[in-house]
Amino acid sequence: MPVNRRSDHILEIAYCCVRWFFVPTSTILFMKYYHQTTLDLIVFMSLFVFAVIYMGITEYAIHRSPIDSAFYRYTTRTGVLLDYVAFVVIISLTGGTQSPLFPIAYLVILHASLYWSLVGAMVATLMVILGYIGVVITVDGGFMLEDLPRHFFNFAFLIMIGVIGGIIVARERKHFVEKGIFENLAKKDYLTGLYNHRSFQEEIKETIAKQQHFTLVMADIDYFKRINDQYGHQAGDSVLRSIGSLFDSSIPSEHGSAFRYGGEEFVIILYTLDRHFASDLLHQFREKLRALEFGTEEDKFQITMSFGAVVRDKEQSATELVASADALLYEAKEQGRDRLVWGSYSLS
Ligand code: GH3
Ligand code: MG
Ligand code: MG
Repeated sequence: MPVNRRSDHILEIAYCCVRWFFVPTSTILFMKYYHQTTLDLIVFMSLFVFAVIYMGITEYAIHRSPIDSAFYRYTTRTGVLLDYVAFVVIISLTGGTQSPLFPIAYLVILHASLYWSLVGAMVATLMVILGYIGVVITVDGGFMLEDLPRHFFNFAFLIMIGVIGGIIVARERKHFVEKGIFENLAKKDYLTGLYNHRSFQEEIKETIAKQQHFTLVMADIDYFKRINDQYGHQAGDSVLRSIGSLFDSSIPSEHGSAFRYGGEEFVIILYTLDRHFASDLLHQFREKLRALEFGTEEDKFQITMSFGAVVRDKEQSATELVASADALLYEAKEQGRDRLVWGSYSLS
């Protein structure tokens, strides 16, 4: 789960706890200090029942449904609106704008900022202020001169919470986006767009740690130095870029990944022990590579690659596998290039 989703999830759990805190406490507050008419009681009981049902659904969404499901998303986001409605009703029933529960408004604004950042916080602040004015008119009996300082500071605090909360969330979101960009930069090779050598070392260690069997393929462009010498380094770079895209499109992520090992060498981890399957995949890659043309209209050229492949069917270490695949690649070069050489694991 990405870090920001996890922190949003933890905040949702916190909001659920906060709601469970307010249900009994506001019930005691209302029954002991504010309950006067039967209508009040009916409205309060309706809110109570509605809140408990809604909170039950939210608990289910948060603890039982996948975090990226539509159900989770709609339930948590709808919560902001329902909290707002509950806020207006509950302060109307517990003394109007002087209600001890008035600070719930701050929680509503912060909740909105969590999902819709600064804009969400501003919209929520505006909604809360409108609700507040409604409560002043219908419950408080209008704006009284002596209450104006209190209203003024209530409005000021609502706006401050909205602005500060919104800025904090917007800053946090920006941080996560930048973190993702930097992580990508650290993992990927700039020229080919493939994962880099460091990612390969991490991936192979991880795959071995998971006790997975797999196929390791080392690949190298044939006579690449000649291409640089004849057509220039930029043409060479363009070849590397095209190979990167071709690997990317030819190896579905569920079957494995290709990495730039270094220079004009690549390494592929395929999550299969089936030589036929791996050979087919590499064969398709080589067919597509053969179809590619580089250079200019007047001076076109094509390239080929050689491959050495080894299956990890025993307890071979990463170093042993790389050495083995490298030796097989060397054999492919010796045999005349543009081919795939398979080997069973053997260092000797
Ligand atoms: P072989 O078929 O035996 O693999 O021959 P080769 O010419 O491909 O191999 P060699 O190791 O002699 O040359 C590799 C060349 O790859 C030399 C180096 O300049 C070039 N190369 C390595 N990295 C890059 C790069 O990022 N861009 C470009 N344009 N060339 C690169
Ligand atoms: Mg080469
Ligand atoms: Mg090489």
